[in-house]
Amino acid sequence: MNGAPPPPSHMGGQRPPPPPPPGAAPGGPQQQHPQMHAQPGQRPPPPPPGSRPPVQNWQPAPAGPGAVQQQQQPGFAPPGPPVPHQYRPVPQQPQHPPQQHQQHQQMLPNQGMRPPVQARPQQLPPVQGPAHGMSPPQQQHAQQYPQQYHQQRPPYVPQQHQQQQQQMQPPTQGISSLTQNMGGMNMGQQPGMQSPPPGSHSHKQRTRRAYAPFNPEVGDAPSQGGPAGFPPVNNPQMPGFPGAGQQGYPSPAGPPITGPQTFVPGAQAPTPTPGLAAPYARSPGAAPLPAGTGQPMGQQPAPYEPQKPRIDPNQMPSPITVHTHDQENYGSAQPYSTAQRLNAPLACTEFTAVDDGNSNPRFMRMTMGNVPHTEELLKASHLPLGIIVQPLAELAPSEEPVKLIDFGEEGPIRCLRCKTYINPHMVFINGGKTFVCNMCRHENDVPDDYFCNLDMAGKRLDSEMRPELRNGTVEFVATKDFIARQPAPASFVFAIDVTWNAVQCGMVAYAAAAIKDALYSGSGLPAGVRVGIITYDRSAHFYSLSSSLDQAQMMVVPDIQDMFVPINEGFVVDPTEARHIIEPLLDALPTMFANNRTAEPVLGAVVQAAHEALRGRGGKLIAFQTALPTFGPGSLKQRDDAKLHNTDKERTLYEPQDAFYRDWAIKLVEDGISCSLYLFPSAYVDAATLSQLSTVTGGELYSYPAFEGGRDGRRLMADVRADVQRAYGGSAVLRIRTSDGLRVDEHYGNLYMRNHVDVELAGVTSDSAIGALLQYDGKLDEKQDAYFQAALLYTTSDGQRRIRVHNLAAPCTTLIGNMFRSSEVDTSLNLIAKMAMSEALTSPLKGIREKLTDRCVQILSAYRRNCASGSAPGQLILPEAYKLSPLYNLALLKSPAIRGGADVPIDQRIYHMCLMRQFSVRKTMDYFYPTIAPLHMLAEGEGVADEVTGVVALPKLVRASYSLLDPAGMYMLASGGSLMLWFGRQVSPSLLQAAVGVSALEQIDTKMHSVPEVPTELNQKIRAIAGGLVPTRAGYVNVQIVRQGMDQAEVQFASLLVEDRNNDNMTYVDFVCAIHRQIQVEARPKGPSEPKWSYH
Ligand SMILES: [Zn+2]
Repeated sequence: MNGAPPPPSHMGGQRPPPPPPPGAAPGGPQQQHPQMHAQPGQRPPPPPPGSRPPVQNWQPAPAGPGAVQQQQQPGFAPPGPPVPHQYRPVPQQPQHPPQQHQQHQQMLPNQGMRPPVQARPQQLPPVQGPAHGMSPPQQQHAQQYPQQYHQQRPPYVPQQHQQQQQQMQPPTQGISSLTQNMGGMNMGQQPGMQSPPPGSHSHKQRTRRAYAPFNPEVGDAPSQGGPAGFPPVNNPQMPGFPGAGQQGYPSPAGPPITGPQTFVPGAQAPTPTPGLAAPYARSPGAAPLPAGTGQPMGQQPAPYEPQKPRIDPNQMPSPITVHTHDQENYGSAQPYSTAQRLNAPLACTEFTAVDDGNSNPRFMRMTMGNVPHTEELLKASHLPLGIIVQPLAELAPSEEPVKLIDFGEEGPIRCLRCKTYINPHMVFINGGKTFVCNMCRHENDVPDDYFCNLDMAGKRLDSEMRPELRNGTVEFVATKDFIARQPAPASFVFAIDVTWNAVQCGMVAYAAAAIKDALYSGSGLPAGVRVGIITYDRSAHFYSLSSSLDQAQMMVVPDIQDMFVPINEGFVVDPTEARHIIEPLLDALPTMFANNRTAEPVLGAVVQAAHEALRGRGGKLIAFQTALPTFGPGSLKQRDDAKLHNTDKERTLYEPQDAFYRDWAIKLVEDGISCSLYLFPSAYVDAATLSQLSTVTGGELYSYPAFEGGRDGRRLMADVRADVQRAYGGSAVLRIRTSDGLRVDEHYGNLYMRNHVDVELAGVTSDSAIGALLQYDGKLDEKQDAYFQAALLYTTSDGQRRIRVHNLAAPCTTLIGNMFRSSEVDTSLNLIAKMAMSEALTSPLKGIREKLTDRCVQILSAYRRNCASGSAPGQLILPEAYKLSPLYNLALLKSPAIRGGADVPIDQRIYHMCLMRQFSVRKTMDYFYPTIAPLHMLAEGEGVADEVTGVVALPKLVRASYSLLDPAGMYMLASGGSLMLWFGRQVSPSLLQAAVGVSALEQIDTKMHSVPEVPTELNQKIRAIAGGLVPTRAGYVNVQIVRQGMDQAEVQFASLLVEDRNNDNMTYVDFVCAIHRQIQVEARPKGPSEPKWSYH
């Protein structure tokens, strides 16, 4: 049934005039059922049970203001095999009673004026303030849902002194003081550190230290055991930190605090290991590095009881400071040259890169800029060594597009031995007649037609003229050797579940609107993409969209056991040519199925149909599914069992319940078809099984639990637009090559692998990110760079076969200090999260959590052992480039993907696991640490877009802790692409009036999902900040309103504040204390022992 020749592309031409506006009735198009005549705005009465309209095929009429006419086309005979003519949209009773969307809508009692949250406790150990206990909304939640909190500490009891402290201290004070403190500490070079290479960023030499010691006691007065009246701090959620050393850390009777360099006394000062004081490379005698001797947390029964840690949370290393710093380095100064190699801008930094022989960091990032020359050195550091490749990443408008090179029939020059593509790091010798491969050192003859003389420096005279010898990233036209089947423009098939549930929750209306928006608004589809539409319930409905028709024709295949596509031509069409067909159809879908009482959407059959329709041409299935498929091919059982949650057996629910979807996903991959799956669960849908469709095919999973149009509709529209309009490549294969001595051990992401080297991606988008963990085959030559090349063979959306090649050269090092100095904690977190997700199928989550923390301890211990062994034993020393690793580790532990607690619905767990697998580095950072902008004290220029770049100037951001929120203030929180607008309980009426146009919190409509427009400057700035925090293709995002102490949504808000105690885990301060104790245990001299855990 396939094989219809693709219609000619008209993407560049004039679009046909838009059809007349849809019906005047608010609901848009009217009921299209041919058997009915409905009045505008009136829902037609359901036909009597049992009546089956003998519909053969029917078409939705263009929506009009009048009553809908019967639209039967007499004499239409579908092409192809005979189609059974049964369409029964109405009479059946639901197979399952329609599910009401259950939400916890219990409103919290208004607890009246709440004492102000203390910004920065001055007199008391902060651990006793709200930052270290449960945040107030969590206390409320805990009162409502005590079972989730039974093991947590007693709720925070506000004290009198806090009520007196009305004045909010600027939270930035502590951050800046930390910066100053840290800047003054141990700035000298440590053993093991190399000077920055010549030519590196001079500014960075000043600002990027090799490491900074972190002193937990800075800025805190000695305590006399803490004031009375506070509940004892006990039993944080992560139990079992080794009890050893408790009495010593941080001791109330410790030495007086004298300044930033004061050491925290340990229980017993561990003796530094003399052999390890020197850099690793200089102490070969100290071969058996005593790594990995710590106890994994959670194995010791003794509960961890922090003893009044007197750490000011504001002194903790902060992502805000780090990112602000990085932005200052790279934001406005001159562009970042990729030849610099070291210390690339962080993923969240806005920068402009110039490709000087290495790929833009947007395409390829390494977990460390310096590659250790041996496996032993890597193991000694415990750092992960890997790459994150985002092969089609979007470039900034200020950056040069990737150059396309056509080598004709011969194809691009490659190394004969290892097939590495020609790149700027290949060396030409022998007068230009030979080139030496940078990967395998093989000497290859230069083809005659590629010969060029060398200059005095041995460089080809034409090297500046040839992009493949000058740029780290280029694209080659693929020769026919790379073409397995004739490439064709990609086709996107939208499949919409139209069962009772789907219609009633508003999903059908929003999905149809989102598709229409994605096709015809913004930048539109990528060039050349064709479109097809399927709707389905217990049967599948196909639409002929041929532009020669007046309106879409619907064909129904009720026999889903024997699925076929009943339309030969006109199923996938050019959306521009067929706009007059597609738009009215999408407008009509919600009313066409308004009375559809069928349940059980047959997703399995739809996958089969999409496979048949797209076989031979490739493309993408974009499916919108609301329920567990319980009928037809691929029907699944309800298997969720609450008794398994939070137990070792929970992971049986992560595995697919049968092979159907995986098998079909593999068939999709073979035919170059990827799948984006949009789930709208109101009950268990078995995301673990269904997500195989997206994870195997390079697609993505989206989830909107208990979908509510008003709340989630905008997010859905933004997601669909981004999904459909971003750059797309089909039938892709990625291969990562490395220097001899290294190899890729494992690949992570949404992908499929038939062998160990070729990563098959049925579809690849600008957001697709693949992780690769590197392994050693031998020793690297420390005098040479280590090289990496990622080559992506793919078909562009308009049917061109291309090879995009990314290259990276990294210096080898023999010094562990250089590894730490060049580490990228963001990229490492992305890779570690991806690795953890792949382990979730085989290891209990509890074990994974312990391993993650253990890994963090091992890394920091290795740093201490090898790079800072001369420091005082009680002092916590964090490597500068890795100082955020405890915080990010904690954020990962708190993510719904792996956090403890029985209250994470299993589908949500799977969804978040999928996010980790598919996230790019930048998205990982947005996800793990929220951005919080204060809105109540905007300075001039803040909240205003730059006239040239359009970038909105943000106010000074606030760290993710409830204690830092001013109850008289307003804040915008951005996390993972969504926004929350938080109003403090004491926000003044005038401020409120200027912000949202009402004078009391009670008057705010919490159902609104955008910032209302009010003609004030503040309101304009707030809306600009919202757009600046979450820039989307669609230009809008959902804004959730949260009023302090009034809205249930505050529980969700508080759960995003990762520095607080929440999500089954401790505060940032407590966690760092716990890590520090572990490091102290590690530092004690022990006999040689094998690491308990390592990366390899
Ligand atoms: Zn080679």
